[in-house]
Amino acid sequence: MAGGEKEITSVLKERRLFKPNKEFSQQAHIKSLREYERLCKKAEKDPETFWGTLAKELHWFKPWKKVLQWKPPFAKWFVGGKINVAYNCLDRHLEGWRKNKAAIIWEGEPGDTRTLTYQDLHREVCKFANVLKQEGVVKGDRVAIYMPMIPELAIAMLACARIGATHSIIFGGFSSAALRDRINDAEAKLVVTADGGYRKGSVITLKEKVDEALKGSPSVEKMVVVRRTNTPVKMRRGRDFWWHDLMKDASDHCKAVPLDSEHPLFILYTSGTTGKPKGVVHTTGGYLLGTTVTARWIFDLKDTDTYWCTADIGWVTGHSYIIYGILSNGVTSVMYEGVPTYPQPDRLWQIVDKYKVNVFYTAPTAIRALVKLGKAWPERHDLSSLRLLGTVGEPINPEAWMWYHTIIGKKKCPIVDTWWQTETGSIMISPLPGAIPTKPGSATRPFPGISVDVVDRKGAGVKPNIGGYLIIKRPWPSMLRTIWRDPKRFKNQYWSDIPGVYFTGDGARRDRDGYFWVMGRVDDVINVAGHRLGTMEVESALVSHPAVAEAAVVGRPDPIKGTGIAAFVTLEGKNKPAEKLKKALKAHVTKEIGAIARPDDIRFTENLPKTRSGKIMRRLLRDIASGNETVGDTSTLEDYTVLATLRQEDE
Ligand code: ATP
Ligand code: MG
Repeated sequence: MAGGEKEITSVLKERRLFKPNKEFSQQAHIKSLREYERLCKKAEKDPETFWGTLAKELHWFKPWKKVLQWKPPFAKWFVGGKINVAYNCLDRHLEGWRKNKAAIIWEGEPGDTRTLTYQDLHREVCKFANVLKQEGVVKGDRVAIYMPMIPELAIAMLACARIGATHSIIFGGFSSAALRDRINDAEAKLVVTADGGYRKGSVITLKEKVDEALKGSPSVEKMVVVRRTNTPVKMRRGRDFWWHDLMKDASDHCKAVPLDSEHPLFILYTSGTTGKPKGVVHTTGGYLLGTTVTARWIFDLKDTDTYWCTADIGWVTGHSYIIYGILSNGVTSVMYEGVPTYPQPDRLWQIVDKYKVNVFYTAPTAIRALVKLGKAWPERHDLSSLRLLGTVGEPINPEAWMWYHTIIGKKKCPIVDTWWQTETGSIMISPLPGAIPTKPGSATRPFPGISVDVVDRKGAGVKPNIGGYLIIKRPWPSMLRTIWRDPKRFKNQYWSDIPGVYFTGDGARRDRDGYFWVMGRVDDVINVAGHRLGTMEVESALVSHPAVAEAAVVGRPDPIKGTGIAAFVTLEGKNKPAEKLKKALKAHVTKEIGAIARPDDIRFTENLPKTRSGKIMRRLLRDIASGNETVGDTSTLEDYTVLATLRQEDE
C-alpha cells in the first residue's frame, strides 16, 4: 500500500440531492429510508439470521448446518448445505409460468438476434453439460472460456456450474499470452472458444489465439469451438471439436449436481488496473445469495422488467449481473455482442428502444465516451421505457452523472452508482433506488448486512468528510474465498495492511449523512504540499468544465513543491486544444475546489490509457508525466498506441 499515515484531504463540494419519486418508491422492493435502516439494523444485530433468512429463498438440495464459519481471513458460508447455481438460475423457473419467458435476448453486433426462453436455455445447458462430461470434464476440473458475447458463453458457464466444473472466463480481447498465463494459472483441462467474434465491424479471431496459447499450456486436453464468424480455422484432430457437432447428439437430460455450498464456482482475474491481475476464487451458495439479493433490491427487479447490463461477461459485472444474479431472479437479461458505438454512436439507445429496456446498467467510461459524442445520438430514440439506471467500474464524476440523469434518464430514473469489486462478488455500496436519495458522484450507503467503514492506517474510524481507507469489517456471503492456489497472497493483499479487516485498496470519505464517496485508489493518491488528494475529486472538477469530457490526474515530481499535478484531458465534441483553454481549466479547478488542486500541467489527448474493461490506468500516466519508462504489467492495456501517442506528444 502506497502513501503515509495521513488522511486524504477531501476537496469536492457536491451538494445536489435527488429524492426518489413517490411512484417509484411505492412500487419498489425497498420503499423508504426507514425500511432500509430497519434492514440495516436487523442485519447489524444478527448478521447470520439476516443472511440465513434470505438464503432460504434459494433452492437447496440439503440445508446448511451453520450459516458462517469464520477463521479470519477464511470464511465458509452455509456450511454443510448442498446447492446448484444452474438449478437456481434455470430449473426453478421451469416449474411455473416462467418456463416460456425470455431468459436471454441476444443481439449480435451485425444485428442478428436470438431469444432463449428459460426452457430453451435449460435444454442447451443440459446438452452442453453432457458434452463436457463426455469430453472428460469432472467435478472440480477447470474449464477456460474465451468467447465473444454470444449465448453459447452463457450456456457454457451454466453448464460448468451444473456439473461442478469451475469456470475461468477470460475476456475475448486478451492476447494469446495473457490467455496462456490465465489458463496455466488455473490449469484448465478444456477450453471453450469460437472461431471469432465481431468487434467494431471486423472479426477478431479467437480460435487462432487459443491455438497460439496452447503451445504453452500443457494442461489443456480438449477445445470446443463455436462457429460464429465463419472464419477459417485449423482443427487439430483429437483435440479440437466443433460445438455444433458435439451438441447434435447430446442428450438434453442432465441432473444438476448437488454441490457443497463452498464448491468453487469460478475463478476470475481482476481487471489489472493497479498491477498484475489476481485469480479471485468465488464459491457457490454465498455468491449466489449475494448476487441474487443485491440484483433484486438494487435493480429493483420485477418479472415484467427487461434488464440490460452492457458489461462483457469476461468481467465480474457480467458474471454477477448479466447471468447469475439476474437469471436466479427469473428476469429477462439482454446480452449484446459488440461495441457501444457501432455502426453509429447511438447503438446502445437503439437497443434500449428496440427491446424496451427498463433497467440499464453501464460503466462511467461508456457514459463519458457518449458525452463526448454529443446528446443528439440518444435524442434520436425513444428511451421512455427506462425506469432505472446504474453505473459501475469507476467513480462517476458528478457532471457525467448529471448527463446520464438528464439526457438518458429524462430526470425521472433513479441512478444506482454501485461500488464493488471482483473480490466482493456482489455490490457492496449503492443506493436502494426507492429508498435512498442520491447525490451525484456518491455510491451512497452500504447494502444491508455489509459493514463498510473509512479508517486510518491503524484501523481507527475517521471523522465525517475526512478521507481514509475503505474497508469491510465483517465477512459477507459473496466475498472471495482466496486467490487461486495462493492463500498467502490473499492474506497479504487484502488482510494485512489494516489489522483485522478487509482492505479494498480504495480511498473514500463518508459525509455527515453517512454517504460514501469513493475518492479513487489509494495507490493513485497525490501528495502535494502536505496534502494527500484523491484523483476523483480533481478529475471531477475538470470534468465539470463544459469543454471537458474526461480527465485523469496524477502526481509528478516538481523541483519546488516536491510533487506537482499533471492532468490529462479529453475534450468534448468540437472543442479544440488551446493554450487559452489550459489556462481556463486551471482557473476553473482553482475556483471549484481551491488552489491546492490546481494542475501544474495540462495535456490534451484524444484518448487515455485504459484497461480492457475501460478503466483509466493512472500508473501508466504517472510514468509518462514524470518522463520515466513504463514499468510493471501492461498486459491488460486496451490500446498500446495510446501510450505511444502520449509519449510522442511528450517529446
Ligand atoms: P486490479 O485489482 O487488478 O487493479 P481492478 O481493481 O480495476 O483491477 P475490478 O475488480 O474490476 O478490478 O474493479 C474494482 C475497482 O473498481 C474498485 O476497487 C474501485 O476502485 C473501482 N470501482 C468500481 N465501482 C466503483 C464505483 N461505483 N465507484 C468508484 N469506484 C468504483
Ligand atoms: Mg482491484
